[in-house]
Amino acid sequence: MTLLEVKGITKRFGGVLAADSVTFSLESGEMLAIIGPNGAGKSTTFNMVGGQLRPDSGQVLLGGEDIAGEPPRVIWRKGVGRTFQIAQTFMSMNVVENVQMALISLRGQTRSLFSRASALHRDEALALLDSVGMADLAGRPVSELAYGDVKRVELAIALASKPRLLLMDEPTAGMAPKERAALMQLTADVARREQIGVLFTEHDMDAVFAHANRILVLVRGRIIAAGTPEAVRANPDVKRVYLGESGVKAALAARRQKHEAGLA
Ligand code: ADP
Ligand code: MG
Repeated sequence: MTLLEVKGITKRFGGVLAADSVTFSLESGEMLAIIGPNGAGKSTTFNMVGGQLRPDSGQVLLGGEDIAGEPPRVIWRKGVGRTFQIAQTFMSMNVVENVQMALISLRGQTRSLFSRASALHRDEALALLDSVGMADLAGRPVSELAYGDVKRVELAIALASKPRLLLMDEPTAGMAPKERAALMQLTADVARREQIGVLFTEHDMDAVFAHANRILVLVRGRIIAAGTPEAVRANPDVKRVYLGESGVKAALAARRQKHEAGLA
């Protein structure tokens, strides 16, 4: 059965049609990117799948079951995960403790937090860290990690709930290009290995075209193109409206240059 089928979801904010009958599907193990200019409706679409926003109309079928309008916690329990930034208060804890905390909270065991937390779910937490290549840094305080490694821990925490579908709204924001490519590669590897479907947005077109199996192009709330990276790249509407816009191109080039200068 198809993992996710989104059928005609629409969301209006006052006079703005943020999502206009958005329709797509996503299979297990697939990386599906949503791209489009700022304000295109990407986050709105994510939030309707994750439950943060209730669609005005349309269906969100997860394994055939309509979850549209359910609260985020219910949707999360049904297997839709998303990455969250590690809160400041957890930064002083070490890496494995952060993942243990996620497992403890996941299982409603927060009362045992202060007694046996150091042993609780430790092996499982280490296995999750191993799956994102972070087992070696398990004992390090998160505050001492490189930014890219913090993102890996956040991915491990998202994986703790064993999601079938992972939502990643700009997961690499603020990262240098090399770290960004590494995180996307890691996500793609995990998705394939664990057969998790991943819906993601990303500003960096190199990362999108390198790692997405399919791409949706959203402009002013509407999907104007959908298909493989090759098909989307060659689509004349996409070239005209999005990739081909000289202003967007120039902005992307400037941003890349800035990052590269920062890296050197
Ligand atoms: P993207 O993530 O592609 O940048 P968004 O989904 O955040 O786009 O926004 C789509 C449109 O909906 C924008 O015009 C934005 O201003 C509007 N919008 C988003 N969220 C809200 C909200 N909570 N209230 C009012 N307008 C919103
Ligand atoms: Mg957004």
